[in-house]
Amino acid sequence: MAIDLSVTDRFASRHIGPSDADVSAMLDTLGVDSLDALVDEAIPASIRSDRPLDLPPAVTERALLNRAQELAGQNDSHRSFIGMGYSGTVTPPVIQRDILENPSWYTQYTPYQAEIAQGRLEALLNFQTMVIDLTGLEIANASLLDEATAAAEAMMMLNRITKRQKSRTFFVAEDCHPQTISVVQSRAEPIGVNVVVGDPNTFEFNDDVFGVLLQYPTTDGSIENYRDICERAHENDAYVTVAADLLALTLLTPPGEIGADVAVGSTQRFGVPLGFGGPHAAYFATKERHKRQVPGRMIGVSKDAEGNMALRMALQTREQHIRRGRATSNICTAQVLLAVMASMYAVYHGPEGLKDIATRVHDLTKILANGLEQTGHSIRNDHFFDTLRVDLDGITQDAIREAAEAHKINLRYFDDGSVGVSLDETVSADDLDALFTVFGATNGKKLYAKDVATDLDSGYDGPLQRETSYLDHPVFHKYQSETELTRYIHRLARRDLSLTQSMIPLGSCTMKLNPTAALMPISMPGFTDVHPFAPSDQTEGYRAVIEELSDSLAEITGFDGVSLQPNSGASGEYAGLLVIRAFHRANGDKNRTVCLIPESAHGTNPASATMAGMKVVTVDCDDNGDVDLEDLTAKAEKHSDELAALMVTYPSTHGVFEDHIQELCDVVHEHGGQVYMDGANMNAQVGLCRPGEFGIDVCHLNLHKTFSIPHGGGGPGVGPICTAKHLSPFLPGHPIVETGGDQAIDPVSAAPYGSALITLISWAYIKMLGADGLTQSTKTAILNANYIAKRLSDHYDVVYSGDHGRVAHEFILDLRPFRKNIDISEQDVAKRLMDFGYHAPTMSWPVVGTLMVEPTESESKAELDRFCQAMINIRTEIEEVENESVDLDRSPLKQAPHTAEMIARDGWDLPYSRERAAFPADWTRADKFWPTVRRVDDAFGDRNLICACPPMEAYQTDDEEDLKEALTA
Ligand SMILES: *Cc1c(COP(=O)(O)O)cnc(C)c1O
Repeated sequence: MAIDLSVTDRFASRHIGPSDADVSAMLDTLGVDSLDALVDEAIPASIRSDRPLDLPPAVTERALLNRAQELAGQNDSHRSFIGMGYSGTVTPPVIQRDILENPSWYTQYTPYQAEIAQGRLEALLNFQTMVIDLTGLEIANASLLDEATAAAEAMMMLNRITKRQKSRTFFVAEDCHPQTISVVQSRAEPIGVNVVVGDPNTFEFNDDVFGVLLQYPTTDGSIENYRDICERAHENDAYVTVAADLLALTLLTPPGEIGADVAVGSTQRFGVPLGFGGPHAAYFATKERHKRQVPGRMIGVSKDAEGNMALRMALQTREQHIRRGRATSNICTAQVLLAVMASMYAVYHGPEGLKDIATRVHDLTKILANGLEQTGHSIRNDHFFDTLRVDLDGITQDAIREAAEAHKINLRYFDDGSVGVSLDETVSADDLDALFTVFGATNGKKLYAKDVATDLDSGYDGPLQRETSYLDHPVFHKYQSETELTRYIHRLARRDLSLTQSMIPLGSCTMKLNPTAALMPISMPGFTDVHPFAPSDQTEGYRAVIEELSDSLAEITGFDGVSLQPNSGASGEYAGLLVIRAFHRANGDKNRTVCLIPESAHGTNPASATMAGMKVVTVDCDDNGDVDLEDLTAKAEKHSDELAALMVTYPSTHGVFEDHIQELCDVVHEHGGQVYMDGANMNAQVGLCRPGEFGIDVCHLNLHKTFSIPHGGGGPGVGPICTAKHLSPFLPGHPIVETGGDQAIDPVSAAPYGSALITLISWAYIKMLGADGLTQSTKTAILNANYIAKRLSDHYDVVYSGDHGRVAHEFILDLRPFRKNIDISEQDVAKRLMDFGYHAPTMSWPVVGTLMVEPTESESKAELDRFCQAMINIRTEIEEVENESVDLDRSPLKQAPHTAEMIARDGWDLPYSRERAAFPADWTRADKFWPTVRRVDDAFGDRNLICACPPMEAYQTDDEEDLKEALTA
């Protein structure tokens, strides 16, 4: 036999958990002959694709990294002084390695299970405290998707809280960043808000204005005093949002002190790489009285079952899973990992360090301004922080551009011939010298920064100097050596359960492997240091990645067009619905505004539909959890003239491939509607079926689920939309960079390609798996889910299954009988799982009182067996309560989770042993994950909302009254 020259290190065998022997054993358990036979039982033949994926063959990890390095080299390393909301920054290496590149931080889930998430909850509380302090406002959330969407969220919030419910005008200062203006406009139009863009100094308020957006400093760098405008706005019952640069706020009077009601902005320049536009965490701060209206997640302080301080996500009742179409926003995945990085940047530098950085950036800008003025150019800004707008003298903009190109420098070129320069933390004296040369600053002899500097005083000496202190909390003072910060970062990480501990079987969230090789390119300087508005001939490497990824996603979904712009699944939903809306409008169907949504839909669906200006009509589900075809038909008929779309999740949110999906699509099409597929469950389809082939018109994908981008503890995410040919012309555009269809809708994100940096991860994932590996992954995901479902079926009821009794890639366990009979809920099971070292499955969604389990293909049989054992042991504990051998309140289920402190404390008097409490299964002896707090009291925290770092006293008390006092003092 000839020698086989193919490689041995196939990535698929590392990505996919079960070995061949495991697969056989699992198939035996399931009583099927082959994996293909199982898949045939799970997926209706009618929707199976008849052609395999046509993708380039799989490459090894090493080959992938070489290719990534090569493409990084094709991004030109110009110095970008473009500004516009994106600044160069130095990511402290300790933060890069110990957070960004540390799976104990990036593989975590959103901190719904607070008891095993105290680490990142603390980091996020630090983030909120940082934002509150720097903006001078009262409360802040734990991040939004980007600055532009944060401004749009502010507009929407002001529109909800205005006393003048009839007023429809939102005024936007013309000197906001252009992408911010575009995104606000795109958000406003569908909900009937009229955006007026103009000069805030001359704007005349009237009865119709409910809010204002200003930028501080302005997009071209000026520091304006907005006190009068805030006053005039308030006199006219309008609210004010200020988009502000956090670094500038270390030197300037904060928005909260000049009268702003809301402050928004980006925290990118706090140590988060440019990455060609993202991901970056935006912030949102406002006054306490608007707390119930704040979009996104807020972290709050509460107490645990023993009265100790504990953190958790606050005010969940504002969110889409509860309020659906009436939710405060559709934000689900946000930018947690990036918010954690930014907060650690502030922790590391502290207030003095940040002020030093800001002062240096300002001093450099002052030197630049002075030198340019010596040359005869004039600086348009009376007062500035880090950005100048230069009116040229004796040289044309074209000549500057040519000189800048020669020096590999990017500047901002305004239409009126002026030139913008924006400096940052990475700028050196050499950079200034180069800029002087570009601007022809010779003044008889060549200018040097060090010479200009001799005549200037350091520091910001203009108006609106900051007088109040910030970051006074000890956390911003204690960790400024690398040793201390390293230990702090790891201390927090140890409090959190992540994929480095055990599988996170979250139905619908697809917490699969985030391959190391796929993540390595996001640290390559050729990718990290690229400004999103850099000229296209400098970004060929990125463009190749974007094109290859888009092509692969189109092939996988069976669609024609792809936009990578949306920064989350929910943002994709909104974008997809806007595309449908634009399609109808282009056909003259302005009145098509009804969106049919099954009652089982994810809460973001109705929330997104409302944002897209659609009227949500709910469609029933039948007893099997499927969309009720009869009800759908009746409603499609009833709304035939106004039907815009059906939003459907496939396989269904109940984890089943519905047989009649094509019929559903046909009904909607007959009545002139379009079908939107929520692609969160694409992990059950890749390589086996294509939504574009069974009647869907547009879908979003969650690259942070199906395509291996880590969840980051609640973001980043990428939610691209894929469209059939007739919808592709409407894919979102961008005001600065040409992208999208030829009848593009306005942008849905600040950056043209959204979170471009992390699209590398999905690009790498697809390349390393290839067509066969991707398809095998899907099949294995289905196998793993069916295996657990089968193993647990003697102990729990599985709520829904398909015609052959099979589930798709996830399934629902019914706990409702226990709740009803003995008052043990899915919560109790979730908390007890923590003692076993497991994160709970998705709780109470899509069915209240249940757990939805999704193991993914990455988990081995050994891990699946451990999880099953934990669930079976828990079932035994439930039985002990059922047969009354243990008192409910004193059962391990109600006492869970158990902390080390509780176990070690003298005087144990519970009816089960300490040993069983702490080591409820064998493996926990060798590898114990300790929850750091007992069960967290949500109601207490919501009643006493504290969303900034509490005073040190609160950390030291375990007395409820003292805690309350410390928190509210
Ligand atoms: C995760 C998910 C979403 C929302 O995606 P985000 O990225 O969190 O915005 C929407 N629908 C379903 C079914 C999901 O599972």
